This record gives sequence, structure tokens and C-alpha cells, in this order.
Amino acid sequence: MSIAGTTVWVRVALDVPLAGPFDYRACEPVEIGLRVIVPFGRRHLIGVVTALPETPAVAPELVRDVEQVLRDVPPLPADWLRLAAFAADYYQRPLGEVMLPALPGPLRKPSSYQSARAGAGPVARLDARQARQRKAEAGPAMSPPELVQPALNAHQQKAVEAIAASQGFAPVLLHGVTGSGKTEVYLRAVQAVLARGRQALLLVPEINLTPQLQQVLVTRLQAMAGTHGVAVLHSGLAEGERLAAWMRAVRGEARVVLGTRLSLLTPLPQLGLIVVDEEHDPSYKQQEGLRYSARDLAIWRARDLGITVLLGSATPSLESWHHARSGRYLLLSLPNRAVTSTPPTMRLIDTRRLTLREGMCEELTDAIGRRLEQGQQALVFLNRRGYAPVLTCGACSWVSGCAHCSAHMVLHRGQGGSLLRCHHCGGRERIPRACPDCGNQDLEPMGRGTQRVEEHLAALFPEARIARIDADSTRLKGSAERLFVQVHAGEVDILVGTQMVAKGHDFRNLGLVGVLNSDAMLFSHDFRAPERLFAQLMQVAGRAGRHTGGSEVMIQTGYPEQPVYQSLLRHDYVGFATHGLDERESAGLPPFAHQALLTAEAGTLPDTLAFLGHAREVAEEGGNQHYVGDNDDLPCFPPPGLVTVYDPVPLRVVRVKNVERAQLLVESASRPALQVFLRAWLARLHGLPSARRVRWQLEVDPLEI
Ligand code: ADP
Ligand code: ZN
Ligand code: ZN
Repeated sequence: MSIAGTTVWVRVALDVPLAGPFDYRACEPVEIGLRVIVPFGRRHLIGVVTALPETPAVAPELVRDVEQVLRDVPPLPADWLRLAAFAADYYQRPLGEVMLPALPGPLRKPSSYQSARAGAGPVARLDARQARQRKAEAGPAMSPPELVQPALNAHQQKAVEAIAASQGFAPVLLHGVTGSGKTEVYLRAVQAVLARGRQALLLVPEINLTPQLQQVLVTRLQAMAGTHGVAVLHSGLAEGERLAAWMRAVRGEARVVLGTRLSLLTPLPQLGLIVVDEEHDPSYKQQEGLRYSARDLAIWRARDLGITVLLGSATPSLESWHHARSGRYLLLSLPNRAVTSTPPTMRLIDTRRLTLREGMCEELTDAIGRRLEQGQQALVFLNRRGYAPVLTCGACSWVSGCAHCSAHMVLHRGQGGSLLRCHHCGGRERIPRACPDCGNQDLEPMGRGTQRVEEHLAALFPEARIARIDADSTRLKGSAERLFVQVHAGEVDILVGTQMVAKGHDFRNLGLVGVLNSDAMLFSHDFRAPERLFAQLMQVAGRAGRHTGGSEVMIQTGYPEQPVYQSLLRHDYVGFATHGLDERESAGLPPFAHQALLTAEAGTLPDTLAFLGHAREVAEEGGNQHYVGDNDDLPCFPPPGLVTVYDPVPLRVVRVKNVERAQLLVESASRPALQVFLRAWLARLHGLPSARRVRWQLEVDPLEI
């Protein structure tokens, strides 16, 4: 392969926390988009070739040689490289930190190419294995399952036609209540794209919890694209499975890719449509490393390719709703449930004048009893796991605090007895026999979580079969699935659960949903809390009686007059969104402003705050007073006044695992100005001496503040 005397300079993106660029020398022709193995310090790394510069960025004699050019994957396509470059630029991260994690594990580990046999690598091994399997199968090829497509109703028909008529870059927001048949619209849009010989990418929130739902969708997609024409990509896959699915997508064998947020970064040579189901779902935002929003990147990718992107939700994010309202997205609505069942009746129970027993009013427990008598199921929704959020002393002010975090230890009941557990650091402790402060033996659990509610319900309804679904009861692989199967099979009468039960499950026989303690979310410090509460309660409500009819949702609240609850009462998303956007506009909050969050953590709060304080001064004065090093090449700040920098504040849970955390919010009405600012700011933050005493990171468009 190598041509004598050829020297090619290659610029390589590497997954290292340094800005680069990293240039190497190759002695053979190399194309942009290929992967290479290169030396880096004493290590060997796999990187992606992003450019072939005329001259290297450093003196040629310092440039090291590429060790191996990998050709087992076709060059990553130009549009994928553009997408990665945009994401790196927008989220202010090194390019390699975007590109490499987007590849399946074996394709970014040099060790997977260290086999003695020439030509061996993960892709070669995969292909050989599949060839053997095919020979072993050697029967007639599996034909896709036959399925009947329901005839579309008028609203669906209109939506499908509007999508078909769209041309070029076409962002569409499909607003449809739970059960309105959005999936059917997605499927028709996918079908149309497949018919034009293009690929479709369907994003769903985390799907590990809902395998049976995923299976229905996969079956429908297979009926259109063939059994091998569908690739499923999510974080629960084993490395080998992910590689196999990814290769089929990249080679164009998979016509449809169904996956979670990471699959947005799959190279797809013939992409013609992106669908983002439940577009408001927070799981589209990655919470570590590159903190990207797969939904936002989907919009960018569709614009770049000039294709349709279809966002669907019963409760769209206020950002998307704002775009739809202002005409930037095409708004399509499915106002009714597809199957003739009436939506559940919503009721607010004003708890202010009621006595509660274990957090539940009599009206709710009576209603549960009636549903059970009618042979229906009831769901009690409570977003707090464990037995009680804190253990207290009856005689003094002692509470069960975590030694390593500024948080309470939560009381959990388990088979081996009770335990105190910290939900922040994972720490565990035995229950003290007496108060550590005053010796009093009378320790009381305060408040309640799902376990305590379960216990209370078991005492009230001794005959009922009760199941609890939360992060504790579903820790073992497959256990969530088993519990859901039991609920579907009618082997459960009362289900107690956290938000885990809210997602996507269609419980046919569920007649009643009781919501406890949702007020806790209402008065959160986070301005998105009401939006999240509304979406969550609509979603939980959507579980009820999709097929039974006459179902109801009872929400216990001390604040029934709050707009969130009033809108819920009327199933009125539009009213809620209108009010919410008005509030955001007058407060100058997203989507009317754009934000970034600088978060820092260190062993002491003064160190954390010192860094953020310096960062603030740098931002305000464009200042160099704390900066050591060469200032000449640094990017410029935007003109003053365009970007607001707030004071550093400790996080609500300031200490976790003995690390003190604080954050600094930056805001601007102009996205471009914010981007210019962040680039200039970041370049200087790296030079701050106080930065060396903290771990810090920048998040663009943070979801939680
Ligand atoms: P959504 O995703 O909007 O919550 P789904 O797509 O899950 O709603 O549809 C809810 C139910 O309605 C599903 O069981 C689906 O098969 C059914 N359905 C959808 N469209 C139609 C239709 N046109 N005729 C009959 N049933 C339909
Ligand atoms: Zn005490
Ligand atoms: Zn802790």
C-alpha cells in the first residue's frame, strides 16, 4: 500500500482533554474520515483523520508517525464530520471528545487491533462470525413479519400528508396527547423515506425500561425494512452487539436505526428523516462528558442535510413549543386519542383541610378500594424511593445526615433489616440503636417514600397484590421487565412507583392513578420544575385506562390554584405552555435567553468559589489579571453588555463525597454572542492558577440549574 517517498501530514482528532491540533506523518495516502492508530505520549490511541494539512502545526521533525491506517470502516462521511465539528464547537469541547465516544468501543481501542494475524480487527472478526452464522442458518432468508396497518384517522392523515409535502429542511413538531397515535405517523413518515431509498433515524428516550414497547415498534419497522434492515442502538447493548448494529447502519444495510440519544451520532450515508419521540424527555441530554442535547443536534443535522426532522410529544418542551408557535417549526396536532376511550378525569384533592394517613387522604384510599372491588388496578405515584427520606430523634434535633455529603441519609427497609443510605454518594450505615447526640432510643422516620406507602397500602388492603417499581426494586437486570409483565398480566392490583412507571407503559386495566407529594417539585429552585411536573403528571395520567374508560387521576396538593394543576385539570397543554412562555419571557429565561453553566468542585468550598470568582472577574473585565501565559492569540470577548454573568452560588447539595460544588450561570439573549463569549472565556479559564485546584466543566444549554 505504501508508496515510496510519500509523506502525508494528517491531522487527527483524539479523545484527550487537550485542545490539539494533533498532527502526524503517514507514508501512505490517507483519506479524511479514516481512523488511525497513533502514538500519544507513551500511549497508543485511535483517532479520526479530520484534515490533511499542507504543513504540520509544529516543526516537522517533532511530528511522529502514524502507526497504522485502519480501513476496516469506510471513511466517516463528510456530513458526520461536520456534525461532530459543530457539536464540538457549540458545546466547547475538543473534537476528539465528540467523535471517539460516538464510535463503538472496539473501534476506538488500539488493543482490539493487536492480534497476531494480519488483517484481524473487530470488524474482520465480526464479519467472519456473521459469515459462519449465515452458513449455519443456510435456509430461506427470514421474511419480515406481516402486520396490518390501521387506517389513519383524519388528524393522522393530515399530519402524514403535511410531512410528505415538506421539502428540504423541515422541522415538524407533532403535538399529540398520549394515545393519539403519534407512532403511526412516525411509521408512515419512515415508510415514505424508505420508499425513496433513504435511511431513517428514530430516537426514543432510554429504552432499557420498556423492552416490550420497543419490540412492538421494532416489529413494525421490520415489516417495512426487512428483518435485517432495522438496527437497534442503545446503551444496554453489549459491545459486540453495538458494533454489529453500528456497522450495519454505517454500511447502509440497516435502513432504519432505532436508538437512544447516542445513536444521533451514528454515521448514516443516506439519512433522509430523523424522528425524535418524546422530544421533551430529559434523557436526550447527556449529563456527563460532552453534555449535548440529541434533540438539538437532530435539528442541526437535519438542517445540514436538508431533510425532515419530526419531533413528537404530548407535552413538548417549551423551547420547541416556542419555535412552533413562532412559525419556525411546522406544528401538527393530534388532539384526540386514536382508540375510542375517554381520557381520565383529573381531580385535585386539596389537602390543606384534610387529615392524611401516611400521606394519603381518605378520599384516595376509598377510591383505590372501589377500583379493586371492580377488578381494576390502581397506581400510586410518588417520586421518592426508600422508606422515609430522613430519620429523626424524638428528643433532640438530630437527623440522619451523611458524613460525606450535605444531605440526609434515607431510611430503607430491606430483607436484612433497615439501613440508612445516602442517595448522593451511595454510602450505607446501620440504623443507630439510639440517638448519637442525646442517647434517646426513640428514633422516628419522617416523611415517606415508596416503601412506606407500599407498607401502608398492604395494611389497608391485605388481600391486594401490591408491586413496587422504583430504582431499588428493579436493580437486577430484567427485574423491571418482569414486574411490568406481571402488571400487564393482571397479577398486580396496586402498583406503587416512581417516575419509572410513567414511561410509555400502557396499562389496560388501570382505573385510578393517585399522585402523592408532587408539590415538592412545584417549589423547586429550578425554573423548569413546573414544566417537568406537568409533563410527568400528563405522562402518568396517560397510563390510566387507555382502554378501560371511566378512569381517573387524583392529585393530592396543598396548592390546587397553581397554574400547573389548573392546566392539568383541563388536560390543557396549550394553556400551560402559553402561561409558561409568558412567564419565561418576562423573566428573560430560556427560550428567550440562552444559558451556560460553569460548575466547579474541590475539596473545600473556598477553593471552588475562588475559581468561580476569578472566572467571573475574567468574564467581566475580559481581564488578564489572573491569567499567566501568552495572551496574544486568545479569542476576543463580545462587546460588553451582551452577556450577563451571575454570582457563583453553591449547589443545593453543596457537598457530595466530600467534594464541595458550586456553579456560575452565564446568560445572553443572543446565542451567537454567548458562543463568542464562551470561546473567549474558556480559552482564559484554562490559564487560571485557581483552575488547577478544582475540577470544572462548562455546560451549554443546561437543563437543570
Ligand atoms: P402515542 O404514541 O401518541 O401515545 P400510540 O401511537 O401509542 O399513541 O397509539 C395509541 C394506540 O392507538 C395504539 O394502540 C395504536 O395501535 C392505536 N392506534 C393508532 N392509530 C390508530 C388508528 N388510526 N386506528 C386505530 N388504532 C390506532
Ligand atoms: Zn437525640
Ligand atoms: Zn453521601
